[in-house]
Amino acid sequence: MENYTSKKSQNMAYIEPAPLLDKENPFEAMMSRFQTASQILGLEEQIYNVLKVPARQVIVSLPVTMDDGSIRVFEGYRVIHSTILGPSKGGIRFDPHVNLDEVKALAAWMTWKCAVVDIPYGGAKGGVNCNPRDMSSGEIERLMRAYTLAMIDIFGADKDIPAPDMGTGPREMAWLMDEYSRTQGMTVNAVVTGKPIVLGGSLGRTEATGRGVMVTSLAAMGKLKINPYNAACAVQGFGNVGMWAARLLEERGLKIVAISDLSGAYYNEKGIEINKAVQYRDKNKGSLDGYAEAQKIDGKEILTLPVDLLVPAATEDVITVANASKIQAKLIVEGANGPTSSKADSIIYEKGISVVPDILANAGGVTVSYFEWVQNRLGYKWTAERVNRRSDRIMKDAFDNVYRVASEYKVSMRIAAYMVAIDKVAKTYKFRGGF
Ligand code: GLU
Repeated sequence: MENYTSKKSQNMAYIEPAPLLDKENPFEAMMSRFQTASQILGLEEQIYNVLKVPARQVIVSLPVTMDDGSIRVFEGYRVIHSTILGPSKGGIRFDPHVNLDEVKALAAWMTWKCAVVDIPYGGAKGGVNCNPRDMSSGEIERLMRAYTLAMIDIFGADKDIPAPDMGTGPREMAWLMDEYSRTQGMTVNAVVTGKPIVLGGSLGRTEATGRGVMVTSLAAMGKLKINPYNAACAVQGFGNVGMWAARLLEERGLKIVAISDLSGAYYNEKGIEINKAVQYRDKNKGSLDGYAEAQKIDGKEILTLPVDLLVPAATEDVITVANASKIQAKLIVEGANGPTSSKADSIIYEKGISVVPDILANAGGVTVSYFEWVQNRLGYKWTAERVNRRSDRIMKDAFDNVYRVASEYKVSMRIAAYMVAIDKVAKTYKFRGGF
């Protein structure tokens, strides 16, 4: 790793102290780790100043006609954190909690994530403050098309490439691709990833994030000498990431003892059959509510069960100073973005719990997004076998690299992952040069 130490950076006088509040917003959580890793790397102040702020922040108002004829105005965001490594990449979140600070943090996490797995993208994120659960498919379509038109100068196959995130999926990406293509007078499928297969989506993309969680979990269990066979695992969140992580970990012999969704958590010491739970959920309006093959427990309790592996795969800021000391897992692999507050980091580290951080553990999704974009540009389709083999190798290599840096610098894997990412982006920035 290149040494960025300059005399000035030894003191890092420009580093603001970490916030003292218990409840952290995602941007503070991201900045706190960014500061620590920059300090250990000895990152030059001028480069730190470039990387700490997003390159561009766009806020739009989106008037949408609702089914009852009324017009509602939604607020939408797209934040481009960095284009140093290449076109910016990152999902679009439809969620009632979306706000600019959250989107800023998620955009920066995308920069670090792409750098950790060494794919040629910068980082971005988009979001609309809305509740898709309360909206019809027609209302969501009109909102997605309005958002796409509002961002028409931002998006582009070589500029900024969106993808799904919480509350969006292949259906929304199809609408985005269609609306964008109409304005260009031609089909541009490489402008967005996570599309349905028939529109140029990649095989393996749907399960890619969960698969990366599985690959990095097994790699970490190997280092910790935990035998995966029958190892107890709790997965928080049963959306695309959590469900696939649970299913693929179960396939590899782990015992999934607890799962959860918005309706609560479900615990069965003997193990939960994931396919059965999926069937139940699909017949039950997408909810695990009433799932009788396991005992219903409080939603938060899933984080503190006696398990070998804990996979938080729901949302941000769920492992905090309030519950970190109660965590019993030997290993945490972060399927969600930002599930652990920065102040919980040290509690977990001191307890000797290993954490495969979000920017590494959930990077399988953007890795296969990259493959989707490559296939679209080639006008060619890869087999699922090729996609999985290549993404597994990228995830395993990225894990080994982060693990090596963590051992070398005697830091957590989280700080090591930030160090790897910041080092790569800073090095590239130096080659490209600023003004
Ligand atoms: N939204 C996903 C993430 O947070 C995927 C982003 C992408 O594929 O561009 O990693």
